[in-house]
This record gives sequence, C-alpha cells and structure tokens, in this order.
Amino acid sequence: MRLASRMQQLPPYLFLELDQVISRERAAGRDIINLGIGDPDMPTIPSAVSAMHRAIENPLWHRYPDYHGDVAFRTAIAERYQSRFNVTLDPTSQVLGLVGSKEGLAHLTWAFAGPGDVVLVPDPAYPVYAAHANLVGATVHHMPLEARNGFLPNLNALSPALLHQASMLWINYPNNPTGATAPLEFYREAVALCQQYDILLCSDLAYADIGFDGYQAPSVLMVEGADTVAVEFYSLSKTFNMTGWRIAAAVGAAPAIHALGTLKSHIDSGPFTAIQYAAIAALSENPDPFIHEVNTVYAKRRAHAAEALESMRLLADIPQASLYMWFHTPEGMSSASATKFFIEKAGVALAPGTGYGSYGEGWLRLSLTTPDSQLDEALRRMRVAIQGEEGQALTPEVGRV
Ligand SMILES: *Cc1c(COP(=O)(O)O)cnc(C)c1O
Repeated sequence: MRLASRMQQLPPYLFLELDQVISRERAAGRDIINLGIGDPDMPTIPSAVSAMHRAIENPLWHRYPDYHGDVAFRTAIAERYQSRFNVTLDPTSQVLGLVGSKEGLAHLTWAFAGPGDVVLVPDPAYPVYAAHANLVGATVHHMPLEARNGFLPNLNALSPALLHQASMLWINYPNNPTGATAPLEFYREAVALCQQYDILLCSDLAYADIGFDGYQAPSVLMVEGADTVAVEFYSLSKTFNMTGWRIAAAVGAAPAIHALGTLKSHIDSGPFTAIQYAAIAALSENPDPFIHEVNTVYAKRRAHAAEALESMRLLADIPQASLYMWFHTPEGMSSASATKFFIEKAGVALAPGTGYGSYGEGWLRLSLTTPDSQLDEALRRMRVAIQGEEGQALTPEVGRV
C-alpha cells in the first residue's frame, strides 16, 4: 500500500489522540473525567427533536438532498441572521447548507488556496484551518494570538508582501481555544485589510450564541461591505446541542458561497433533508429561551471553574463567551507534561495548548461541557493534585483516589 505523500503532512487529529489516551487509562481501571473535548453534554433543543420525528416519516426526504441545502433551511438561516445580527442575506446566493461546519471550513480551502498561496491562520487555532491549507499545498502563515493582545491577531504585523500572496485569512471569535471575543472594531479592520489585498476573510462563528452576563457575539457581516469579502460559518452544533446531527451553513460573499457549493457538489449531496427540517424548527421556533437556559448552565460551570483555577493560581482571564477556560500550566510544566500530570495525578483529561499551535505552549484548555457534579469533582481532584505537587500536606497518591 502506498499512501499519498500529502498524508505525511497530516498530524494525528488532536482529539482522536486524546480519546486514545483516555481509553488506555480507563482500560487500566482509572476513573478519568474528560474535560478535553468541547461537545455539549445537554440534550438537543426539543423543537428540533420533535420536528425530526415528523420529518423522518416524509419519503421525499429519503431521496438525495438538495446540493446547496433546502431553500426553506437556507431561508431559516437568513432569518436568523436578520433577527440575531440585523444582517440581510439572500437565501439562494448567500447561504449554503453544510454537513456541519467542519467540512465547510475544510472544503473552502480547496476552493481558495493552492501552491503559491499563503493562508493566514491564527495560532493557537482549531486545527482544521491549517490542516487543509497544508493539504492543498499552500503556505501557512501563523498569526500569534497572545494574551497581551487579547488573543486577537496583530493585523498590522502582516507585511504587504505577505498580504499580496495571501488568499485566505481565518478568524474565529468567540475563540476556540482561548475563549477570547472580538469587538466589531476588529472585524472592521479585518474587512478593510481583506478588501485592500483581495483576501477572502473566513470567520468561524461556531460559538455565535454561547455568551455570558448578556454578552452577544457580533457577526463579521455586521460590518458595512463585509459581504464582498467575507464568508462566515454558522453552526447549529454548539448553539442547539446538535453536534451529532451535522448541520451548519456558510453565509456571506456570493462568489465564495457559489465556489464552495460547486466544489461540494462534486463531493457530497448536502445534509439529510430531515435534519434540515429539524434545524429549521430549532432556528425558527423561538430559540432564545433555550439558548438562555443553556448559557445559564455554562455560566454556573464557568464560575466554579474560575474559582477553582484561581485558587490554583492558574487562571488568566474569565471568558465572556465560548465553552472554554484557557489557563496557564502549573509552574515549570509544559502543555504536554501538564496534560500528563493531570491525567495521572488527578484522573482529569484536558486539552494541551500545543494541540492548537506552538503559541499554545504553556496553556491548557478546559471545556465546560461536562455535567456539574463531574466538573466539580474534576476541579477538586486537580486542586488536590496541585497541592500534592507543591508538597502541601498531601502526597501525590491522594490524587489517585
Ligand atoms: C466545534 C467547532 C467547529 C465544528 O463545528 P461543526 O459544525 O460541528 O462541524 C468548528 N469550528 C470551531 C472553532 C469549533 O470549535
């Protein structure tokens, strides 16, 4: 068997590896609480589940779906953008249905980058952006996200020579993994820059609706003129606890939406139509009380995690949005050694910052998608493990119970 050489550019997928470590530990009889992956633990919005029961009975939906998404689904996405962001979208030319946004992010790169192109990717970031830029033979330029700049990339640091070569610029706020948010002013600067250099601005809005203390994330399309240069990914996964359903949309610049749709018509056939009708129900049947309820649960977990991490003197910032706490590794530990430390001494799995890029070194990511009692137990064990490490009253063995 001879694998394509491009496979050598693909590192093992972070969470697949993390899953394997957890399985190994559990097989060895260890009780592991997984705070690594961001996958909502609460049930899907009930309106979607009810709609799915009805939609599954419709034989029309058992046939191939519309390549670009059912017009009713695309219209529901456009209506959501209107009510949530006050952004007007044409459902047929500016909205495309996706089988989850991950495939859309990946495929967009195949339509907009190749050898000779530069793709501007934040570091740390969701690993999919760079993975596909590498696969298509483009050059990845990493834009550091640093605490001192609020985990926003410094757009002024990008040289004109680099910008002339760039075909795509990725941004993701509320941010995974740092939990940072972007003000509309940052979006204005990014839109202006991309207009000046003819770069496709790619905004991953996976955490559009996860915000605390009343925070509501903006859309890049709220910027005047953004729909000439920007594509945004709006996913139902995190908002409606629908990660398993695989349903999202790409919205924005019509030529980019068209190109992505053309590419995808050679790859898949659009999301299962019954799922699109479940998504329409989620989007259209007064979703805001559900969103509020879910955010209240995450906010409580965030408060518990913040208190515990502060007592361990590891916390940098309390996030306003997203499902994540991004915090420092204990003194003297790298991301890798701290991940190992917390698995072995506390039975708690966390995501190492370096899984998202080299600027993630010295950081760990904790996800708020674990039931309260387990999260609290995990935080308790982490604290005990740290105290043991510092030699205060406890031996490291205590962490093993
Ligand atoms: C979860 C996540 C996604 C994937 O969303 P799907 O719509 O489920 O594919 C994309 N981007 C980021 C940053 C995420 O955290």
